[in-house]
Amino acid sequence: MSRILIIEDEEVIAELEKDYLELSGFEVEVENRGDTGLTRALHEDFDLFILDLMLPVVDGFEICRQIRAEKNKPMIMVSAKKDDIDKIRGLGMGADDYITKPFSPSELVARVKAHLARYDRLVGEGLPVNDVIEIRGLKIDKTARRVWVNDEEKTLTTKEFDLLTFLASNPNHVFSKDELFQKIWDMESVGQDIATVTVHIKKIREKIEYDTSKPQYIETIWGVGYRFKI
Ligand code: CA
Repeated sequence: MSRILIIEDEEVIAELEKDYLELSGFEVEVENRGDTGLTRALHEDFDLFILDLMLPVVDGFEICRQIRAEKNKPMIMVSAKKDDIDKIRGLGMGADDYITKPFSPSELVARVKAHLARYDRLVGEGLPVNDVIEIRGLKIDKTARRVWVNDEEKTLTTKEFDLLTFLASNPNHVFSKDELFQKIWDMESVGQDIATVTVHIKKIREKIEYDTSKPQYIETIWGVGYRFKI
């Protein structure tokens, strides 16, 4: 289901948009302030944004600019003034569409559907998609740096993630602790030694293994190092 974020300070309008979009099967979140809306837009996973132009604290121009710097998801800008729409269109703000208030909710729904379909088509045509490794219930999204075991998300530290991903990207290859330490810690190793590899492997196992005494993923090769089993 596609998730949509509406940033709109006029609550009646926001609720109307939300109702119509939900009736069309979308999951919809509303924020009434620019600053809170921007925070959620940047940190949560939405498929499309609907932005009002005039908003408290942070306006739609700034929100549009900041979202566009980080995400390529469709953005529809809404304004009560036709002149403003012409102005932002001229500025090339990076929004995908502009609608002048008042508009019919069904028109908004039609535009949302068109932009989501267009985005899916572009992704299908080779826009970058996430690089994912999936092995026996373990899923690592290398692009988003997220890990799941049997669909349950696990939180790994940066080094735990790097170490797990390196091993899983080179399955059936035995690496010594020295090799792993050099590969993952490299130049930042001041004050650390290869024992940190053992500590990190233990922590990763606690997070991803069903039974840490019988690891299914990272196998210990005694006297040598570790291997990711496939
Ligand atoms: Ca407004």
